[in-house]
Amino acid sequence: MKKYDVIIAGGGVSGFAAAIGASQAGARVLLFDRQPSVGGTAVYAMTPVLGGWKADRKGGGVADMLKEYLEERNELIWRGCNADTEEDCLQNAMLALLEEARVDMLFDAELVSAKCADDRIAFITVKQNSELLEFAAGNFVDATGEAALALAAGALTTVPPVELSMTKTLMFKVRNIKSFDKDSINKRFREKEFPIPGQDRFMGTQLLHNDEANLNLTAVAGDASSPEECDRMYRELQNQVPVIVEWLRKEFPEFAELEVVRVAPILGVRYTRSIVSRRQLSLADTQNTEPPPEPVGFCGSYIGGHYINGYSSPWGHAITGKPAIPYGALRSANISNLLACGRIIDVDPRVISAVRLCVNCMSSGQAAGIAAALDIPDYEVLAEELKRQKCLIQ
Ligand SMILES: Cc1cc2nc3c(=O)[nH]c(=O)nc-3n(C[C@H](O)[C@H](O)[C@H](O)COP(=O)(O)OP(=O)(O)OC[C@H]3O[C@@H](n4cnc5c(N)ncnc54)[C@H](O)[C@@H]3O)c2cc1C
Repeated sequence: MKKYDVIIAGGGVSGFAAAIGASQAGARVLLFDRQPSVGGTAVYAMTPVLGGWKADRKGGGVADMLKEYLEERNELIWRGCNADTEEDCLQNAMLALLEEARVDMLFDAELVSAKCADDRIAFITVKQNSELLEFAAGNFVDATGEAALALAAGALTTVPPVELSMTKTLMFKVRNIKSFDKDSINKRFREKEFPIPGQDRFMGTQLLHNDEANLNLTAVAGDASSPEECDRMYRELQNQVPVIVEWLRKEFPEFAELEVVRVAPILGVRYTRSIVSRRQLSLADTQNTEPPPEPVGFCGSYIGGHYINGYSSPWGHAITGKPAIPYGALRSANISNLLACGRIIDVDPRVISAVRLCVNCMSSGQAAGIAAALDIPDYEVLAEELKRQKCLIQ
């Protein structure tokens, strides 16, 4: 059985940041994913907009490393606090930075089980092709977006009620756009009758090639923790794509010649399942003028959005307080060597938007990776290393 200091399950943006953070803190790290490469939702669900940056376009730590790598290659376009790129550029950048950090990587590798002794994960079994592989580690980070490792290890987890779990979306890429003035499109969009219920604003991102865009317009509700429901939602959303394209061609002169280039190979799920932790990020935390205790990562500036009956949710509002991700929200309540990061950290479901944007996922990811590398230390020790790695903690 191969042994590592830290094993990261999941190679989306949060697992990527966790792996680099752990490696920079001196750990021998394995990152594995069931997909053929890194990128997770941002690459395979085709959502390569890196949102959630601070107003001065700072993300701290690994997020800034990624930003600089893409900027040096002219592969990042800023629109306010969002930075747009392409799936391939994002994936290549993540791979290059992981290789530079000497992280071992294993792809097409699905988690099968986790063996626990007392309150710790001792080793995990992963299936790659038809081979079963076992790996042991001192500490584990669940970056699977669906708390798959926590579930396998018998850690406490929770699934939000469907009405708090945000719409599911199938992103698709189109080309032959004549012009792309988003404000103007959005204004006209709201005046017309869009054929898909639950979508009340134009959501699309112009890509590096100006005549191309990724559209974020399909919408459906359902429980993403159920594989059968995910299949159903994917099929339903696939059927929406030609309807939307036909409507856009008819209603908007700039889209008259629209062609679909690619439909995302996986369902775009924003929120599935979280760990139950030692300190949940609460709704009150987003309103308080003081951050919660032991802050390790920074939050976005808005909660709500992508509600199931339209974009705006009843509790949606700009964040007025000074929320931050508390250390405790990354730590499993009952498995002592398990941390979580990204969109599965422990939050009040109404607060998920504050932590699920890519930059915030990288922030919690780097903190979880460092904590795992340092054997889940006291907060002061963790904070010192976060500072050394130039992370923003609130
Ligand atoms: C439609 C849509 C639009 C979005 N738009 C934006 C946007 O504009 N800006 C922004 O910043 N964010 C956006 N987001 C949010 C953002 O993309 C995600 O929240 C973020 O990428 C999640 O990263 P993560 O690392 O937590 O999880 P994920 O990226 O989901 O990564 C989890 C990884 O774990 C792997 N995995 C899962 N289970 C297993 C298993 N059993 N074995 C092995 N591997 C496993 C998966 O294959 C995956 O690669 C959007 C999301 C969606 C769905």
